[in-house]
Amino acid sequence: MNPMENHKLFALAQHEGPTCIPVGDVCLGRDFVVMAGPCSVENETQTMETAHAVREAGARILRGGVFKPRTSPYDFQGLGMEGLRILRKAGDAVGLPIVTEVVDPRDIPWVAEFADILQIGTRNMQNFSLLKEAGKSHRPVLLKRGMHSTISEWLNCAEYILAEGNPDVILCERGIRTFENSTRNTLDLSAIPNIHGLSHLPVIVDPSHATGRRDLIEPMALAALASGADGLEIEVHIHPEEALCDGAQSLPPEQFAGLMRKLRLLSETMNQLKEL
Ligand code: PEP
Ligand code: MN
Repeated sequence: MNPMENHKLFALAQHEGPTCIPVGDVCLGRDFVVMAGPCSVENETQTMETAHAVREAGARILRGGVFKPRTSPYDFQGLGMEGLRILRKAGDAVGLPIVTEVVDPRDIPWVAEFADILQIGTRNMQNFSLLKEAGKSHRPVLLKRGMHSTISEWLNCAEYILAEGNPDVILCERGIRTFENSTRNTLDLSAIPNIHGLSHLPVIVDPSHATGRRDLIEPMALAALASGADGLEIEVHIHPEEALCDGAQSLPPEQFAGLMRKLRLLSETMNQLKEL
């Protein structure tokens, strides 16, 4: 990183200690936080059942997409406003804050009335009008890494949000495109300690979109925690084989619960390691 970047708001030098973003009863940047839920809100039953399952397993934030940026315009595009109403209802029912993706700057003000965290997806990382509008919002912003983006480009997109006056940016590594095609993307775990050496902002990992494969979620989630990630975002579906979007990478609730147990054990070990 160019030393000239040290004066930017994201830089380590600009903040005393790591940024800590309170959401619900946890603090992102201090506590290890797992966000989980379906790729897309499909209907009330699916969302409600998934919310109960992830809450039971120990997730602290409920995720769910209502505006889906799909590769094909003929694929399920999300339920929009109706989906957000369902997600809010499910979050309230289980007592979890909700995170959902925004794709259009015009939606930010009203979505921010319902959602606790605004997600900006990989395809929109450099959508500067979306970043600026999110910077005017009072809600924390979860900024995913662009699939073709460098760490510097990503941090500069966080800067767009910070520069508008919103200090609460959470970075999310979700894999980048490489020549490898046996996984959906290539998870860049080195991004976590790399970012921690450059910025005070929390950084979480999304092993679901990074790999696209259910069998790889657990090892990558554990590796993310071991690499110092501040949290995870994981897709969970009550019936992954029936999911309208990303079923192949979604964990069924029992598998998610098993992963959460392993994360708790590893977390204890990580705390011991910090003392050494
Ligand atoms: C998502 O989290 O639903 C999503 C679309 O992720 P990404 O932007 O990382 O592809
Ligand atoms: Mn998805």
